[in-house]
Amino acid sequence: MPAFSFRNMVLLCLLPLPAVALFAVEAAAAPQDEAQPRVVGPGVAGSAPSDAIVLFDGKDLSKFRGERSAEPKWKLDNGVMETTPEGGLFSKEEFADCQLHVEWAAPTVVKGEGQGRGNSGVYLMGRYEIQVLDCYNNQTYPNGQCGAFYGHNAPLVNACRKPGEWQTYDIIFHAPKRLADGKVQAGSYTVLHNGVLIQDHIPVGEQSTTAAPLNGYAEKAPLYLQDHGNPVRFRNVWLRKLN
Ligand code: MG
Repeated sequence: MPAFSFRNMVLLCLLPLPAVALFAVEAAAAPQDEAQPRVVGPGVAGSAPSDAIVLFDGKDLSKFRGERSAEPKWKLDNGVMETTPEGGLFSKEEFADCQLHVEWAAPTVVKGEGQGRGNSGVYLMGRYEIQVLDCYNNQTYPNGQCGAFYGHNAPLVNACRKPGEWQTYDIIFHAPKRLADGKVQAGSYTVLHNGVLIQDHIPVGEQSTTAAPLNGYAEKAPLYLQDHGNPVRFRNVWLRKLN
């Protein structure tokens, strides 16, 4: 249909004057020379987008090394990996700014309380922990609860599912950056837990969180998944590099 069909002309005449002006301004402001956004296949539900680096798809742990050994020592069963007391996992590849998707589940059988119930953690650059904890009817200090930027910032809300149910973290991370003058510019964390915004562009300084396996400034570093002595399961871990 032509842009100014009789029908559109009639509709335009019916609009109040400010709306007509807005229509004209919007049409004039539409940039014609900007590069089009890159096409990315969004993936079907439960799978990674087309440009993601898949770290764990249920088949093997080959994208990881162990915290204390070259071989990752987590259990792999039925497409799911589970923490063991042998320590956490480091990704072999190193990252900085990224979008990260992780699915995890706390033990179905509830055991322990506070920090001792389904504790694990997702550490960008092995330094900055987003806490994994079963906080379904389980209280602890707010900046240590599920979805907390550990020791820094409590989640906006508690979006925990029941123990044993699969939960998602979708994390947008910008790393702290060393500037030309030697100062470090803060990065940021934005986190959705089960689709609910729980960390809204929270500053990330150079200092690692408590008990982080890595410290000190780095331009990029591995992702770390924590073993905290509780059997927490993970599946479907993927990441998109930003910039
Ligand atoms: Mg933890």
